[in-house]
Amino acid sequence: SQSALQQAQKMEAIGQLTGGVAHDFNNVLQIIGGNLQLLRMVGGLSDAGRSRVEMALAGVERGAKLASHLLAFARRQPLQSIVIDPGHLLRELDDMARRLLDANTFVRSEIAADLGSTVIDPNQLNNVLLNLVINARDAMPGGGTLTIRATNVGPGDARPVEVASDDFVMIEIADTGKGMPPNVMARAFEPFFTTKPTGQGTGLGLSMAYGFVKQSGGEIVLRSEAGKGTSVCIYLPRSSAAPQVASEHPYHLPLAGG
Ligand code: ADP
Repeated sequence: SQSALQQAQKMEAIGQLTGGVAHDFNNVLQIIGGNLQLLRMVGGLSDAGRSRVEMALAGVERGAKLASHLLAFARRQPLQSIVIDPGHLLRELDDMARRLLDANTFVRSEIAADLGSTVIDPNQLNNVLLNLVINARDAMPGGGTLTIRATNVGPGDARPVEVASDDFVMIEIADTGKGMPPNVMARAFEPFFTTKPTGQGTGLGLSMAYGFVKQSGGEIVLRSEAGKGTSVCIYLPRSSAAPQVASEHPYHLPLAGG
């Protein structure tokens, strides 16, 4: 098995490679998409021609989404970070989780009242957390317990070795599902690594989460045991600034897809 250093170096190398490819790939898509849009505007196309243009544009859109997921992994995603109190976002996530999960899954929320604030892109954070909830759901086909936990951790409190910051907000999404054997855990953060059937998993959820959290100055820690369950903890540095008023910065909740 690999050391933490080897693991970090591997992720760094994959990030460099995918970041470069995704960036160039995205530029090519922009050229194709721009020209297709011009073609759509100039008119004079037959019905069949127009439908071909629409199909091609839909393909460009799918490609652009893929590129943006890879850029998130490579920590090159443009972020719109603001100071937020994550509690607000987590209570909305709790609502969303209850709607996503079957009746046989119990949702337990332990969100501390005074989490403080953190500097983060709320839309991206929400997307990442939603992906974690979907992974938890997929891991518990027969039901179980989903836990959404958020606490405030200070200098004296225990934290995993990875977490250097003194003050942070810890957000945990945990399930009592099938868990991961060691060989899956070792590769779980890699882009395109999936054990789900074709068409059901893209293998990009955890890799996006990894890149986004790192880019935001935080750490992500994965614990899992086959047959028992999985816990993903996100540690975000706490900010001393007051959170911006939520209503001044409304963010919508995008429905996650791979
Ligand atoms: P995807 O969900 O599309 O497969 P992810 O990057 O989110 O992509 O996850 C990669 C793999 O890690 C999954 O295919 C699964 O094998 C494993 N995994 C992720 N989350 C969990 C979980 N909560 N419980 C068990 N296995 C998980």
